[in-house]
Amino acid sequence: MKSLTHLAETFGTPLYVYRLDKVRRAALDLLDALPHGARLYYSLKANPHPAVVRELSGLGLHMEISSPGELAVSEHAGHPARHCLYTGPGKTPAEVSGALAAGVRLFSVESPTDLRRIAELGVGSGATVDYLVRLNARAAAAGTGLRMTGRSSQFGTDPDAALAAGMFDSAPGARAAGAHLFSATNVADEQDLVEEFDSVLHTALSTFGTAGVAPSLLDLGGGFAAPFAAPGERPAYTGLRAVLEERLDARVPRWRAGEPGIAFESGRYLAADCGSLLTTVLDVKHSRGTTYVVLDAGVNVLGGMSGVGRLLTPAVQPSAEADGAAGDTGRAEVTLVGPLCTPLDVLARSARIPVPRPGDVLRIDNTGAYGLSASLSGFLSRPPATEVVLGADDVVLDVRALETVYSAGAASGR
Ligand SMILES: *Cc1c(COP(=O)(O)O)cnc(C)c1O
Repeated sequence: MKSLTHLAETFGTPLYVYRLDKVRRAALDLLDALPHGARLYYSLKANPHPAVVRELSGLGLHMEISSPGELAVSEHAGHPARHCLYTGPGKTPAEVSGALAAGVRLFSVESPTDLRRIAELGVGSGATVDYLVRLNARAAAAGTGLRMTGRSSQFGTDPDAALAAGMFDSAPGARAAGAHLFSATNVADEQDLVEEFDSVLHTALSTFGTAGVAPSLLDLGGGFAAPFAAPGERPAYTGLRAVLEERLDARVPRWRAGEPGIAFESGRYLAADCGSLLTTVLDVKHSRGTTYVVLDAGVNVLGGMSGVGRLLTPAVQPSAEADGAAGDTGRAEVTLVGPLCTPLDVLARSARIPVPRPGDVLRIDNTGAYGLSASLSGFLSRPPATEVVLGADDVVLDVRALETVYSAGAASGR
């Protein structure tokens, strides 16, 4: 990676740098690893930057969106609403109406209530809405990632309950188009992924079989892994495509003709390695045997979901000083903390790095997914990180920062 020091000097820190060529590379790699002709959804929650969305949309990916803000970004990026899948366990009537008005026609429904609401609003809008029944699949493999469903879950509906509630019987205003399953995330092992897809495919087909309905789209979810905020490479999944094609041929022989269409979803695999966070060392201090490196990027900028105590401290590991000059000598174990006035503001408890000096700029790679988007931006009212997008030859294409402001009366009409 070229030196990024000049970017930190020009735009200040904390600074997220996104490289579009890396977004492109990741998308082409994943499309290559998946069954030929399968649809791939990009989950905007990983990184909703409009330039990232535009790049992926241009490569033919569809968008998986889950909020009015993500819909707005998708539209802003020029992505067609008819190529969006609107998901989420708690859609408000207002946001569904907004999505319908924008032209979204495919929803993942998470419960009978969600389905009824979408159907009613579909009738009201005069549009016929397609929906995927989000199923809470039974667990198959013991994957390494975070399992989202398979036991009791706030996501989707258990297959038996979905059948009992008649969720596969299309209603006026809404047509049952297929199934949506998303049961694991960050699964680096290819064999575990295969087992996972096998299991969700089985669940989808047996449930639709029992319902006596032929699905037109099976969204089998994802789980494609990527490193986070530490050096590392995306897994290659070199054998995935052949195995999945073989299993689809055996179970759904007409899938190549789109009967049903097969879809997958990914956030982190597509966006993680495009991003690096540049952060300035504000202080280096010692307390009872621990070296604290105080950065201008805390959980308000990176890894905020850990900051709230929901998950473990993320073990952020800077790759190098931004100018790449740091030698390998003099590495020590340090605790990386941010500037916030809370003991939760810890990015790593034992990062092994050359002990920096105040003023140094550190680079934290693999922060393109769940970096800023999963941060506690707004917490402590510090200015959000700037985001800069680089195109070919590191040309700066876009510079912006989120705004967090109180605005009187903004909530009216929601
Ligand atoms: C978060 C999410 C994704 C993306 O997950 P990654 O691990 O980033 O690939 C895909 N689908 C759904 C329904 C999600 O909630």
